[in-house]
Order: sequence, then structure tokens, then C-alpha cells
Amino acid sequence: MRAEVKEYNYDWMMGSITEAAAKLPAGSQKEADLSFRYIPYFRYALGALLETGPPGVQFLKMLSHYYKNITTAHDQGKKIVATTFCSTPLIFYAMGLVPLTFEVLTAVGAMVWKRGMFDYMDYGCEVGMPETSCSAQRGSLGAYLAGLGETIDFIVCDSPGVCDTNATAFAFAAEYLDKPFFQLNYPSTIGDERSQAYHVEDFKAMIGFLEKQTGKKFSYDRLESYLKEMEAQDAITADLEDMLLLVPTPIPPIYTLMIYAGRFCFAGHPEYTRMLEKLRNEAQKRMKAGVPGLKAGVERLRVLMCYIDHYTVDMNFYNYLEERGIANTGSILTRNFRDNNPYCQSLEGSCYGVDTSSPEAMLETVAQMNARLPMVRSIRGPYDQHGMWLDECLALARLYNADCIIYNGTSGCRNTWGMVKPFARDIEKQGIPVHIMYDDAFDDRVESWEASKERLDEFFTVRGLL
Ligand code: SF4
Repeated sequence: MRAEVKEYNYDWMMGSITEAAAKLPAGSQKEADLSFRYIPYFRYALGALLETGPPGVQFLKMLSHYYKNITTAHDQGKKIVATTFCSTPLIFYAMGLVPLTFEVLTAVGAMVWKRGMFDYMDYGCEVGMPETSCSAQRGSLGAYLAGLGETIDFIVCDSPGVCDTNATAFAFAAEYLDKPFFQLNYPSTIGDERSQAYHVEDFKAMIGFLEKQTGKKFSYDRLESYLKEMEAQDAITADLEDMLLLVPTPIPPIYTLMIYAGRFCFAGHPEYTRMLEKLRNEAQKRMKAGVPGLKAGVERLRVLMCYIDHYTVDMNFYNYLEERGIANTGSILTRNFRDNNPYCQSLEGSCYGVDTSSPEAMLETVAQMNARLPMVRSIRGPYDQHGMWLDECLALARLYNADCIIYNGTSGCRNTWGMVKPFARDIEKQGIPVHIMYDDAFDDRVESWEASKERLDEFFTVRGLL
């Protein structure tokens, strides 16, 4: 790692950047224009967020609070638990812990800190992680492996489907940093009693682990209040999903990122509710005025991202959609699979409800929720079985009137690379064009954005979509 990169504490730096960015609209236009001159690598990303108005500002505030929680955790007597986006933070908040989610921190770094994030990724390899490990964890994890972040107290993850690279990254981090480690198993099936009972016992063991690490008793009353807050969040998310169904939709492409990033950071926490309310208010205003979510004012095409979005430098991908007049109906990360969403009708057995009537019921709810998180839900086995990747994508593409489906992942994602071609062929047989992107969502050294953009343009032209 270059010496200059080692000069910065990663959490402090990202927290300061997002905090300053959230304050930008409070200044004069001249101040904002001058600030943009000094941030060449994330000028468009910041501009795109701020152009959304109150939702973008609230999103930046939320990210800055996420970092502040991390940088002040130990001063407040709290412990930091490193975890994954495939595991809900709700139970950690109920335990009074500060979650630190590697993938979220990598995505933020990939968007704003071009000159450092790649050094972190490579540092992971220098100390023993394979180059083919998922860049989603390896980016920010590199900073912690190099001692450039806050001290992690312990690590909790789950095994997201068959994703060996994800699970191994956390096991590696625990071993390298010499930290206590707990790994939840993934449910082999979703919704049946035997697997559910097993999963609840697994969560009880995890709570035992958290109690041992913190020396505190787990409070089911606190869990109940977080679950109730989540009920409010899920209701707003369902309203946003309804508006995504409209053609044209009043939802801008970047909203879907805000919906899932907020959930990964603050599910069940009022911080996320505040942001969702702002998203809904702005979208409703646009819907009532009959204004599409796209800046171009015209919706020319609708895409469904069947996997994840493209996050590298400056969020070029969202700007690309805006420029071309393409509505983003969401990705595998967008949906929460709560039973109050319209898509649950088309995906029988895939959704879950919330029950706070007893401690056991609450744990069952959390277990069911975790089982619906990305990858755990639909990429945990054969792609063409009931309720899995193919089923889910076809149902969503039809419901949201998607004109095409786009795959974008990471180089390390062996579980999707192993099945994406037959998956794409099966979807094409149903009359929906599919494009496979060959970049890495977090590392644009794999394929430059310019090349990705050209391939996207070629796909839309050759298939007669634009
Ligand atoms: S993006 Fe792919 S490789 Fe990375 S955690 Fe998800 S399934 Fe695993």
C-alpha cells in the first residue's frame, strides 16, 4: 500500500467527507460550485444525490451518522461488530452495538475515493486473500487489515447462500485480526417449520455470543421497539414499490440505491425512517404532478437489475440511466420481501410477516427476515428452482414492466458467474432481452466504465430498445 494512503484513517475520512457533503446545500451556490472543483472524483455522485433535494441530503446525513457511530463507538462505551449486508443490523442495534458493514463501506469508498480504495483491495491480497475474493468485502476490509480503521471488537456474519467468498472473507478477517467470530448458517429451505426452528436456535446461539462479548443481557423489549420501527419503514417501502410500478415511474434511478443502502445501515433505526419519509414525500409530489422521476422528463425504457448495481467512481451508472431516459425498477438488493408488497402475490412463499407477540415470535421474525436478504434468499442453490433467481427475476420483470434485464456483479461472484449464462438463456426464451456486464461493481480496473458504457449502448441499440 502506498505510504500516502496509510496517512488516513478510513472511517474518519469517509465520515468527514459525507458530513461536509451533507452541509453543502446549506451554503451559497458560489460555495457549492467552488467545492465541486475540489472533488473531481465524486463530483457527479454528489451532484446526483443533491439534485434529488431533501432525500439526497438526508441520505448523506445518514451515511455521515453511520461513520460517526463507528468513530465514536468506543468513547461511548459501545462495541463495534463487523458484519455483512446479508445479515440484518436490527439485532445489533437492539443489543446496543455499532454495526460496521464491510460491503456498505466499500461501496461508499468506491464512489468517492478513487485513489485509495484500490490500494485497500490490493492490500487484502498482499496479506493473503485471493484476488478472486469478492471486492465488496475486500475493499474496506483492506483498511481494517492494515490498521487504518477503528478497532473492530468482534465479527458476526452469515453464510449468504453458496457464497464462499463472502463467508471466507469474514473468517479470514477474524483469524487475521484475532477477533471472536460467530457465523450464522443459512436456511437450506425458506419457510418450512424444520428449517425455521433450526434457524431460530441459531439466532439464540448468536445472542448468547453477543451477550458473552458485551457482558450485557439481550433485551427483547428493545428488539420489539426496533421491529415496530421497521414496520413503519416497511410500509413506506411498500408505498415506494407501488410508485415503481407506475409507467412512467416518479422514482428516480438513484432512489433504489438509497432504499437498500439505508436498510443495510439502519434497518429498524429511526435514521432510516427519516430518509424513507423524504423519498416518499418527493416521489408523491412528482406522482401527483405527473412528472417522471427521470431528469430528461421522458421514460424511454425500464430495466430490472437482476443482481447488483454498478458503484465505481462517481456513480456513473446512475447518471448514465438518467441521460438515456432509463427507469431503474430495482435490483436483487432493493426488495425486502415483506408481505405488504405487490410482488408477493406473484412469488408465493417468498415473503414474510412481522410478529412481536413473544420473544420466540420476534426471533422467528428476524430469522425469516434474514432468510430474505439478498443472496440468502434467491442465490443459494439451483437458479431454476421454485422461488430462486430465475423465478424471482421473471416475476419481477413482468410485474414492473421491465423491457430488459441487466446482470452486473463482481469478479469474485462464482455463484452467479456459474449460472448466469443458462439463467440469461432461460429469460431470453421468455422474450426478455438480457445483458451481462463484465465489469466489477466496485473495482473499475476490471473493465473501465467507458467500456461498460459502450457495451450497454451496443446492447440497447442491437436489441432495438433505444
Ligand atoms: S457480490 Fe457475489 S461474491 Fe460478493 S458477496 Fe455477493 S454473492 Fe458473494
